[in-house]
Amino acid sequence: MLKKKTKIVDKIINNVACPFCGLLCDDLVIQNKKETLKILKNHCPKAISGFEKQVPESFPKIAGKKSTLEDAIDKIFLVLKKSNSPLITGLGTDVNGMRAVMHLADKTGAVLDHMHGDALTRNTLVLQDLGWIMTTMSEIKNRADLIIFAGTDATKYQRFYERVIWNKQSMFTRQKNKLKLVYIGEKLNAKLGISPTGKKPNILNCKTEEIGEIISSLHAIITGAKIDVDNVAGIKTKKLEVLAEQMKSAKYGVIIWSPADLDMPHAELTIQSFCEVVKYLTRITRFAGFSLGGDDGSTTSSNVCAWQSGYPLRVNFNKGYPDYSPHHYSTYNVLKNKEVDALMWISSFSAAIKPPRASIPSIILAKPDIKLNFNPDVFIPIATPGVDHSGQLFRTDSVVSLPL
Ligand code: SF4
Repeated sequence: MLKKKTKIVDKIINNVACPFCGLLCDDLVIQNKKETLKILKNHCPKAISGFEKQVPESFPKIAGKKSTLEDAIDKIFLVLKKSNSPLITGLGTDVNGMRAVMHLADKTGAVLDHMHGDALTRNTLVLQDLGWIMTTMSEIKNRADLIIFAGTDATKYQRFYERVIWNKQSMFTRQKNKLKLVYIGEKLNAKLGISPTGKKPNILNCKTEEIGEIISSLHAIITGAKIDVDNVAGIKTKKLEVLAEQMKSAKYGVIIWSPADLDMPHAELTIQSFCEVVKYLTRITRFAGFSLGGDDGSTTSSNVCAWQSGYPLRVNFNKGYPDYSPHHYSTYNVLKNKEVDALMWISSFSAAIKPPRASIPSIILAKPDIKLNFNPDVFIPIATPGVDHSGQLFRTDSVVSLPL
């Protein structure tokens, strides 16, 4: 993971993919002047921070004391050799990093989880139980004429509106003035949903826990059922009937959610309601789901785990074969239940999310600028794929893996 930088001096590089959120915008123009990077075009604050922030000099450490890389690796070897059941988590890495993690997990009998494992699991459970019909960023920007934001306003994904909703160019003559946007949920910021001509989106305010009920009611209305109440979760039934009609008459409708924003018990049931109404609507028209996420290599690590082990994340290799259990093998659970005896945390894209503090030997492979409030047994500062060395990541829609 810690690779020597390739020296490129004073160069402008076009079409750079940005690894700092799941959108993987691949249109950045970056100047590399004596190894100092500057984004010249197409960026957001997160990308600027990721590419341009000067990283402090940092060294491997053993128990808080500076060491050589070789000694730090030897120490990791000893910790893992002694461990009967290590946990490798965080998993903020790219395809090659995750391939290496899989190999290590297989050798050491480790449990694997991602720092965004809760959000990943909400989606995976739906995909496994009932399947889904999903679309891509390209399809949305080229075809969608009705977009429903369910429980998310997508503002965490700072260039989503620029690239996918109000994109200047599109194929198939998508007419932006005909695009209808709907927001369903709590405290959603719909300002970015106002069209360039000033058309406001339709907002249905409800609690996050009630979104599933509203979508299921829309599903019922679309199938021809009568809703025998005046309102559902505070939304007038008449309003829902109008929206149901719009969903049926859309040429290409999309429901967008972000599993991280549906942070509540059994959120998978809410996501299931999105996927089931989408499936029904495809009898009448084109409709699809779209999940916003994939940050810190989460789509990537789950995909690599799935193609190598047959299961997506939250897998335990301790029995000599991959044992998949998305609830049991969460980082929180295995630490709380003392089911693991060593912790390895990997995070190469962001220093913001901190590793869990556990009373077992801890190995931290993280960005040099991470601020830890404890001294792990071993710390090794690591490079960021796409900035310090080449790499590959999966985008949030999981259909494209982009070279970094
Ligand atoms: S929106 Fe995400 S992928 Fe695009 S430039 Fe910003 S951080 Fe990078």
